[in-house]
Amino acid sequence: MNYQTHPAGFNPVRRDRLPLETVMDSYKSKAKLSEPTVCPDCGAVFKAGRWQWLEKPAGAHQELCPACHRMRDHFPAGYVTLSGDFLAKHEQEIMQLIKNREAQEKAERPLQRIMAIEQTKEGTLITTTDIHLARNIGEAIHHAYQGELEFHYNSDQNLLRVNWAR
Ligand SMILES: [Zn+2]
Repeated sequence: MNYQTHPAGFNPVRRDRLPLETVMDSYKSKAKLSEPTVCPDCGAVFKAGRWQWLEKPAGAHQELCPACHRMRDHFPAGYVTLSGDFLAKHEQEIMQLIKNREAQEKAERPLQRIMAIEQTKEGTLITTTDIHLARNIGEAIHHAYQGELEFHYNSDQNLLRVNWAR
């Protein structure tokens, strides 16, 4: 899969215009999941209207959570591209910040995961299973190191591209 191509339909968006945390990723999920449902890949449990880390309930239905669907399909929701000389000099600490941020988010919200970290011709690309993690990573790096931060949002498919450069 080539992540370097820019999918059509991305538009620049101000941070305060991004969708709220409460927008649920409906990627490939049915209109309404039965409760409880357990994801066979990661073990997350859908209960009380959201995916959570819980003990597997007896007699749970089985269905992939949106994050595992995206992993299987290699179809990220968030794309964070990092570039610049500062990045090259501080790559290790910046990557540590990103991994810490993922661990914090994922502990609370099972759908927030990093899919892959790779080098592209534009810089370092981090792909995520959810747009909120992509946004959080961009904001955490900007908060810690300043630099230039941009958001490009595709509202049709609920995909987010974040570019950070310093
Ligand atoms: Zn899952």
